[in-house]
Amino acid sequence: MVTGLAVHLDELGRPLCPCNFYPDKQAEVARSREWICACDEMKQWKYCHCLLFVAPDGMPITEYLPDGHEGREIYGLVKDPTPDKGREANRKRESS
Ligand code: SF4
Repeated sequence: MVTGLAVHLDELGRPLCPCNFYPDKQAEVARSREWICACDEMKQWKYCHCLLFVAPDGMPITEYLPDGHEGREIYGLVKDPTPDKGREANRKRESS
């Protein structure tokens, strides 16, 4: 995973998420930032389903997930150890 991100950074100049398949990686980078880490789930809920970004105990943060989200059902409640960081989408929404 980390190697995939590093390769994309070298090849494309952006950390396109290696979790997905792209027929044309350059076009994907130019078209959208949806699959460039951090993805929308990370920006909104600080949740990484790929398990690349996790809390110190190795668990993905699930504290901000909505009820019924599969991440909360699988991992239970995992508190955010650094609540002052991340969740870019929420911060933008709160400040507007
Ligand atoms: S789930 Fe994690 S590794 Fe996957 S795209 Fe989102 S932030 Fe990146």
